[in-house]
Amino acid sequence: MDILFGSVTGTAENIARDAARVAKSRGHDVRLCELDEVTMEDLADMNDVLVVISTYGEGEMPFNAETFWDELEASEPVLKKVSYGVLALGDTAYEMFCQAGKDIDARFEELGATRRLARIDCDLNFEKDAAAWIDRAIPQKGDAAPRTGDAETMPVPATAAPSATDTKRPPQRWSRANPFPATIVDSRILSGDGSSKDMRHITLSIKDSGLAYEAGDSLAIVPTNNPDQVAALLERLGAAPDTLVEGFDLPLGPLLTSKFEINIPSERLVRAVGAAIKDEALKAACLGDKAGFDSYLWSKDVLDVLNVDPRLQVGADVLLSLLQPLQHRAYSIASSPKTHPDEIHLTVAAVRWDHNGRDHGGVCSTHLADRLPPGAQADMFMVPNKRFRVPADPDTPMIMVGPGTGIAPFIAFLQERQETGAIGDAWLFFGDRQRACDHVYEAELQAFQEAGVLTRLDLAFSRDQDEKIYVQDRMRAASKHVFAALEAGAYVYLCGDAKAMAPAVDQTLHDIVAKEGGLSPEGAITYITDMRRGGRYLKDVY
Ligand code: NAP
Repeated sequence: MDILFGSVTGTAENIARDAARVAKSRGHDVRLCELDEVTMEDLADMNDVLVVISTYGEGEMPFNAETFWDELEASEPVLKKVSYGVLALGDTAYEMFCQAGKDIDARFEELGATRRLARIDCDLNFEKDAAAWIDRAIPQKGDAAPRTGDAETMPVPATAAPSATDTKRPPQRWSRANPFPATIVDSRILSGDGSSKDMRHITLSIKDSGLAYEAGDSLAIVPTNNPDQVAALLERLGAAPDTLVEGFDLPLGPLLTSKFEINIPSERLVRAVGAAIKDEALKAACLGDKAGFDSYLWSKDVLDVLNVDPRLQVGADVLLSLLQPLQHRAYSIASSPKTHPDEIHLTVAAVRWDHNGRDHGGVCSTHLADRLPPGAQADMFMVPNKRFRVPADPDTPMIMVGPGTGIAPFIAFLQERQETGAIGDAWLFFGDRQRACDHVYEAELQAFQEAGVLTRLDLAFSRDQDEKIYVQDRMRAASKHVFAALEAGAYVYLCGDAKAMAPAVDQTLHDIVAKEGGLSPEGAITYITDMRRGGRYLKDVY
């Protein structure tokens, strides 16, 4: 049996490991591996395949399944021999819920594989469903495997569900369901005078919590909404904060403060308002494509959508039924536990904008920056990122690319390497808008350089001249040295904006490999794919 996983934070990997344990205990020979380790030839040769996969960002594959997916889409392996089942992990707060799992499931079928078990799509509270799926998907060796369709109706033995996942891991006291109230120890502004940004370094205490982390992990903060925004919404509804709404055990004010997303309007809300009022722009957005819809919604919050027609009357119960639950936000940790065992440091850019003459802000970044002074508490839980680690071998060179808030995990990596006395080259590409006020962590980086921990620093300040200069321009300018480092076995890490920066840096890396390695574009893709497969090209992008 082949158990394949694609994992962002390690949840899918943990479920796959649980499945492998159960499969072994039920007499199967098991191969457990990341999807990116599987070639199309391997796949065509497999018989019994289970796929456990999470979805990343806007319905994308996790990084350790990207290559697998590209090849599965591009080539046409014949999967006649393959009998398979998919467990998809996702978050219903996102529009493209479980999309990666849905895509793999559909493509396997298209290529002739037999779905022997209906796919299950798991939300954040996946534990019981995952355990039940493992139990169904893995019969005792020699027993008949369930056929498609059986799975959805088959009763789950009462004892089977917890045995597969729940009992293997020690219970964690603090979790998403039970976040730790961490005290803010420090909250200092990194951006200098005149900056167009508001970057902060925020320190949280995890002393005596029993929580542990590693350099490369992320931290999730459970935010509350801006009280002014809640008050404005209550006023728009014509409701008092203590209004009770049927079906909820909290009054309306606290519900809007801590349970519902009031910054990002749900698609259902927009369409419901669109259907209830006459507004040409809103109607066109609802009838048009996704890009038009997103562009219409750009910078609008829930109140803006209701106010497209100020005469629209909305009941609190109706509004709540059209809102999404308020979700945590994850931040890459900017500290190593070896340097700060009782603390977690974050680099946060507070997002602010104006729309229709009203101040708007990112939910969590302003929660941290504006509403949590030192001494206040932030509800948090750990989001491990098991693959995003410094190389195990201290001699291995690293290239880190992290403009803006993307620098956060690299501060953690440099601390980690300093503490462990690692001597491999460490090269950082960092950039932001203006050198004079946005060169965040300048003193820290200088100290790392003086200590020999950071061996090269290339800076790109985009707004100090007419032409934009970005980190990828610095990489291109140093292409010979970048390629030499890759040839010497360097790990490449990329952190920061996923939409524009990460694809541009990725393309640059391919171009450098093609130019300096004398390779065709296809040859460069193979080179970078091999790096990914070898765990030498790692991303933490958002
Ligand atoms: P940023 O301010 O958007 O950009 C940092 C630098 O990257 C600037 O010099 C920018 O230049 C440049 N840049 C813009 N487009 C680029 C491209 N295509 N290729 C390479 N560089 C490019 O970065 P940030 O502070 O990291 O914020 C990024 C976004 O992530 C924000 O919207 C933030 O809210 C969000 N976010 C932040 C956190 C956090 O705070 N830890 C967490 C999650 C999400 P120009 O602007 O001059 O073009």
